[in-house]
Amino acid sequence: MKIQKAQILVPKTDANMILKNLERYGRVCYKSEDKFGENISSGMLKTLVAKNHESVLEHEKLTMLFIIDRGVSHELVRHRIASYSQESTRYCNYSKDKFGNELTFIEPVFFDEAARKIWADTLEDIERNYFKLLELGATPQEARSILPNSLKTEIVVTMNFRSLRNFLKLRTSPSAHPQIKEVAIPLLLYLKERFEPLFADIDYDQSFGLEKYGEIIETNSFFEVE
Ligand SMILES: Cc1cc2nc3c(=O)[nH]c(=O)nc-3n(C[C@H](O)[C@H](O)[C@H](O)COP(=O)(O)OP(=O)(O)OC[C@H]3O[C@@H](n4cnc5c(N)ncnc54)[C@H](O)[C@@H]3O)c2cc1C
Repeated sequence: MKIQKAQILVPKTDANMILKNLERYGRVCYKSEDKFGENISSGMLKTLVAKNHESVLEHEKLTMLFIIDRGVSHELVRHRIASYSQESTRYCNYSKDKFGNELTFIEPVFFDEAARKIWADTLEDIERNYFKLLELGATPQEARSILPNSLKTEIVVTMNFRSLRNFLKLRTSPSAHPQIKEVAIPLLLYLKERFEPLFADIDYDQSFGLEKYGEIIETNSFFEVE
């Protein structure tokens, strides 16, 4: 079995263009196009956000590839204002060469050594029994009934910026599950840097250790990364 850390792949975007577009769309409401210039008005965008005039943010979107465990993906897909395409445990047969003939799991961020050993031993049993079920003639969609929350999944997520704000507010707060914070907090920090006026106001659980952050990979294309 393979164990890996959670990751998010984000394609390089022209953040300036997105911010300019949003400013332009917002200015239609106030007929303040005369104030639209070369430089983005960060203040104007922040005012839209502060006034909850967030429908303007729905005109632009971001597509990301989350590599997380199935438990976290279940929390993710509860966010209805989004589009999803997810690796299928019905059709993927993990005994095949293209999966390395093994199951892949996401390392939890919270176990001490003793707890982690129980976790890893359990997954070894599951992997052995999953392959046994396939050998006995079960189809992948039947054998998957014993797969656990820790199973790695890949899920493409598209959210408009309003929905992304809602997602990040809920999933970076102290009460969110640690494994969704693991990806949501570094994603928020990444977006605060690139789209400052849209995310500057969002607080997050600063007590969540930096060493637990999943990896954000900025990429030209999802297909470039192994
Ligand atoms: C800490 C935490 C604990 C949770 N625990 C549980 C739990 O124990 N059990 C459980 O089932 N879920 C749980 N959830 C999931 C939660 O109830 C939401 O389903 C999830 O966070 C998606 O949020 P959302 O509805 O705001 O997002 P979206 O579905 O993306 O909706 C975005 C916004 O659109 C509006 N909206 C969307 N659909 C409707 C609608 N039908 N009617 C009115 N307004 C709508 C709302 O303003 C909503 O905030 C938990 C979430 C968090 C963050």
